[in-house]
Amino acid sequence: MLERFLDLLFPQTRCCLCKKNGLYGSRKPWCEKCMAELYALQKSCNICDRCGKYLGSDSLLCQDCRRQEPAFTICRAVGPYKEANRIVIKILKFLGKKSVSYTMGALMAEVVKNEKRYWPLDMIVPVPSSYRSMVQRGFSQTLLLSQPIGKILEIKNVDKNCLLRDQKNAPLQKELTREERIRNLRGAFYVKYPDKVAGKNILLVDDIYTTGSTVKECSKILLAAGAAKVAVITWSSGVGL
Ligand SMILES: [Zn+2]
Ligand SMILES: [Zn+2]
Repeated sequence: MLERFLDLLFPQTRCCLCKKNGLYGSRKPWCEKCMAELYALQKSCNICDRCGKYLGSDSLLCQDCRRQEPAFTICRAVGPYKEANRIVIKILKFLGKKSVSYTMGALMAEVVKNEKRYWPLDMIVPVPSSYRSMVQRGFSQTLLLSQPIGKILEIKNVDKNCLLRDQKNAPLQKELTREERIRNLRGAFYVKYPDKVAGKNILLVDDIYTTGSTVKECSKILLAAGAAKVAVITWSSGVGL
């Protein structure tokens, strides 16, 4: 509602990706050509059947999933973390252009809708942002993405308060090595209200899947608190082995 009003007040006259002139807004932040490019990226390479990571080979599973089965049932992304897909994340997170979140969420919802292994679903849980990034940005991008996903998939239960992050002065994940990331996350998340997640089929929402350590840890915690199933959707996923 508010976004539509802002669209009228501040019309966006350029595609936010390729800068082509036209009339854009929160429901259509980029042009058709850029949308086609995002879809082409989505299908550009083989993915791990379990975690959705983009693979350089035609293996069924990535190295990580072969080594250790993740706690989540399935994870998928709208596309690999490169080119247009990567720019969209930058627009959302670093330029604070919240107006792209609706379309990002809509594309994420489309992936969930088309994959049987996600269903049934009862509730949506955004991965909690760290205190540091909340202060820097002033908003939680995972919550911004969860809202349109809930709306489109008709899942009313979008709960940002049941899974929380221990807000000590933890370093940002991206500044750490793989081993440090896993260590840093141990004990970082907790479920405040186990009653709310008990027996629920949960859709966990994050923006980027790189090593997957964050969503793996969150899935583990939610399942330990009694969730029936955790499936994950992200905007983009890393390209790996
Ligand atoms: Zn464009
Ligand atoms: Zn995998």
